[in-house]
Amino acid sequence: MSEVRIGVLALQGDFREHIAMLRRLDVEAAEVRLAQQLNDLDGLIIPGGESTSMGLVAERWGLVEPLRRWVHGGRPTWGTCAGMILLAEQATGQKLGGQALIGGLDVTVNRNYFGRQVDSFEADLDVPALGDTQFHAVFIRAPAITAVAEGVETLATVASRADDSKSVIAAVRKGPILATAFHPELTDDLRWHRYFVQIVNEFRSCSG
Ligand code: GLN
Repeated sequence: MSEVRIGVLALQGDFREHIAMLRRLDVEAAEVRLAQQLNDLDGLIIPGGESTSMGLVAERWGLVEPLRRWVHGGRPTWGTCAGMILLAEQATGQKLGGQALIGGLDVTVNRNYFGRQVDSFEADLDVPALGDTQFHAVFIRAPAITAVAEGVETLATVASRADDSKSVIAAVRKGPILATAFHPELTDDLRWHRYFVQIVNEFRSCSG
């Protein structure tokens, strides 16, 4: 079997950092700006940035429908931060009118859950799916997942800033879809990228 090829949506935001992480893992990585570039990919990352701007550029460039077909067709997709907002079936606190722009992940996100109190913070998270060592997560005007449908697996939670006796969901997986509220591409820790490459391989072998 040939090596996997992963695309990173390169309309806005920190796509370059994701590409650099994939290359450090020796994975072929490509910037995606055109619908036809989705055709030769095994997986897609939608990066962090600003979900409203990314959505507007995607609409202008005719990418919304192709991205919906990609995600709803069960292709491996990882959304980080703004990318997670675009994948959520429901979003609150946003400018896009409450509907999903791409959708496919049956969760509700609060778009600026952490954005109001503090612009950014870092936290060490327990992530059993990545092993015993905690993951040092960087949150930047970050969303949080406030509700998940049945079958969506919670991979990590973080203490709520408003009330630290409570926690909110910061990372989930449902089959080929992975979403993180924070930015693994801004750290030196390659474990989330490696985890996504595993998902891509898993779904590639399923689809033959
Ligand atoms: N809260 C931002 C948004 O609405 C996302 C921030 C980020 O991706 N760092 O798009």
